Amino acid sequence: MAIIRVMDEILANKIAAGEVVERCASVVKELVENSIDAGAKSIRVELIEAGTREIKVIDDGKGMEEEDAILSFSRHATSKIIDENDLYNINTLGFRGEALASIASVSNIILKTSTGNIGTEVIINGGKIVDVKKSDSRKGTTIIVKDLFYNTPARLKHMKSLYTELASVAEYMNKLALSHPDIRFLLINNNSELLNTDGSNNLHKTISSIYGMDVARKMIEISGENDDYEVSGYITIPEINRSNRNGMITIVNGRVVRNIELNKTINDSYHSYKPDNRYPIVVINIKVDPSLIDVNIHPTKMDIKFSKFEELSVLIENIIKSKISNRNLIPNVEVKGYEKEKQENNKQLYENLKFDLSRKSYEENSSVNNEILTYEKTNIISDTETIFSNDDIEYQEQQKFPELYPVGLVHGTYIICQNELGMYIIDQHAAKERVNYEIYKEKLGNPNNERIDLLFPLTIELANNEFIILKQKFDIIRNLGFNIEEFGINSIIIKTHPTWLPKNYELEAIRKIIDVLISTEKDFSIIKFNEKVAIMLSCKMSIKANENITHEEMESLIDDLRKCDNPFNCPHGRPTIIHYSNYELEKLFKRSGF
Ligand code: ZN
Ligand code: ZN
Repeated sequence: MAIIRVMDEILANKIAAGEVVERCASVVKELVENSIDAGAKSIRVELIEAGTREIKVIDDGKGMEEEDAILSFSRHATSKIIDENDLYNINTLGFRGEALASIASVSNIILKTSTGNIGTEVIINGGKIVDVKKSDSRKGTTIIVKDLFYNTPARLKHMKSLYTELASVAEYMNKLALSHPDIRFLLINNNSELLNTDGSNNLHKTISSIYGMDVARKMIEISGENDDYEVSGYITIPEINRSNRNGMITIVNGRVVRNIELNKTINDSYHSYKPDNRYPIVVINIKVDPSLIDVNIHPTKMDIKFSKFEELSVLIENIIKSKISNRNLIPNVEVKGYEKEKQENNKQLYENLKFDLSRKSYEENSSVNNEILTYEKTNIISDTETIFSNDDIEYQEQQKFPELYPVGLVHGTYIICQNELGMYIIDQHAAKERVNYEIYKEKLGNPNNERIDLLFPLTIELANNEFIILKQKFDIIRNLGFNIEEFGINSIIIKTHPTWLPKNYELEAIRKIIDVLISTEKDFSIIKFNEKVAIMLSCKMSIKANENITHEEMESLIDDLRKCDNPFNCPHGRPTIIHYSNYELEKLFKRSGF
């Protein structure tokens, strides 16, 4: 029975408007999504020259009978969408089913398919069916797309370099693998394997095959829900971060989406645990009733709008914060060993491939480096089952901040400490900055009446434009516990200030607070203002590098640090402490066993 239906004409036009088959990646996307729709559990994508010569997709899906196989190349044939409403509730992939016709019109195609009985082979050149014959009966579909855009040279020229083409195919396949850990994906270009997942439905394993074991073992499993949303997945501990957002994968109802606000929520949840301009690697699955989302169906955008976004945002923030705030986040200094070498080899293999490709490319662009990251660690290990035991994850959940004994100070900057687990190095400025930051944040967030009346009031002169802005914001400063008044032309006078203002730096600190206030003119938020002031004051008030402190001062600094909500980072997100384990130390000195 034919399961492919001929679509309603209006709907067809709607889809056709957004229809683009312009790059290898969009062709791969169409073919692979068709395979997923056919229920495939294993999908193998083989490319020659990044897909420009040939794209072959082999699946073990349900296959097609002869009638459907032929019909699948006719315009507006789709098995996926039955009526218009389905467009907005996309739980199925590949809603642009008719794209096969578009692909066929600009390439040469061989389709072999079978439902398990007699197989069918269809040969199409430039959109015209030239042959239909019997074929072998392996259940599933194999489709070979050759010489893409051979008959539209303008398009061909429009394609980016081979490397860029390949990178975007790989990026797409990675995302698909992460959103379908139950399907085995294989991606091969010119006989080099770029992606190989096992389809075991273990998301952590899939992450490991894409980002490497080093990253995977530094990820934390998350889950949580509210009335409308169900959230699960993995996030990296803050020490693992990148200069771009490519590693932030959000999946809504099984489909990878890109939503700026969602990414911002995720990144903000790590605030002060890592620099704000570095981004975590996350794979977050969100389940929601389709009626609560509005999907932009433009095929290349994958953007989405959530109703009740605020609730989702709070949920995600709470989950991430609670997961990272209760664990030992001291970065371990790791010495290169066998496992690393193995990865280096793989990396080398990849570098070779990259070189090979860039030599052939006629158009290099600067975004290339960003894209490398997405799959530079593809081929890595999945040989030991024990890697995925919970030990790695649980071990982090031990004691939050260890007992440490200072042994000395290096360059008046780094405190060397020890305990039974090895050696630790603390950056004294960063540590003190964290301690002060948490104090100031508390004070600023909960203003009280502890004030100092000044015998000699402080006067500050401002530029006229600064004065105009500031005058409207006197209330904010007064709420912090300052008595501030206008004092002559473009000047202010401070008669009272809160007790927490750093001694001997009062004037400087007030001046800085005013600067922060003036510079945050647009969409002022008291929380952000307090945050900026706390960071600024804490940096100002902390021991600098090259300042020798006593043993007692080291001990009390470590004690104060331990009491912090986050003892592991300075307010700018840099580490306060790093750890050399006994194991790593012995490895470094080539002691027994290494
Ligand atoms: Zn600082
Ligand atoms: Zn800092």
